[in-house]
Amino acid sequence: MDMLRHLRIGTGYDVHAFAEGRPLILGGITVPHSRGLDGHSDADVLAHALTDALLGAARLENAHDIGQLFPDTDERFRGADSLLLLRTAASHVQRAGFSIVDADCILVAQAPKLSPYRDEMRSNLARTLSIDVSMIGLKATTTERLGFAGREEGIAAHSTVLLIRE
Ligand code: MG
Repeated sequence: MDMLRHLRIGTGYDVHAFAEGRPLILGGITVPHSRGLDGHSDADVLAHALTDALLGAARLENAHDIGQLFPDTDERFRGADSLLLLRTAASHVQRAGFSIVDADCILVAQAPKLSPYRDEMRSNLARTLSIDVSMIGLKATTTERLGFAGREEGIAAHSTVLLIRE
């Protein structure tokens, strides 16, 4: 049971608003839709929530969340591929001696229907993190038309990550 003391849990949450004239990128996939998400990077809300869950679990100095690691005032990250940001965050976490044990994510969107893209998103995220696809869960839910997601004003994502310090 000594290993339990080496476990760390992290949660991540992110929201991006819909905007006209942008592609909808989720889990590294361009999902066909009339609008995309607004943001400084490619606005991949799923990748951002997962990145924050990783950083939340690792509790690194100078990288406590995605905004500290990749400031949205930094021109280098304009239009950035968020899978690359995720990979960079994961390498910080791994260099600090952590390995990913498991992760689970939820996408909250009234539209479009995301379940057809679920396995491809999981594959992309797993490949980015160099983990087996079985170690990353993903669900998509609507909010029964309630709230900003229900009014199709934006998309939210939640993520939970379990790390172990080797
Ligand atoms: Mg974000």
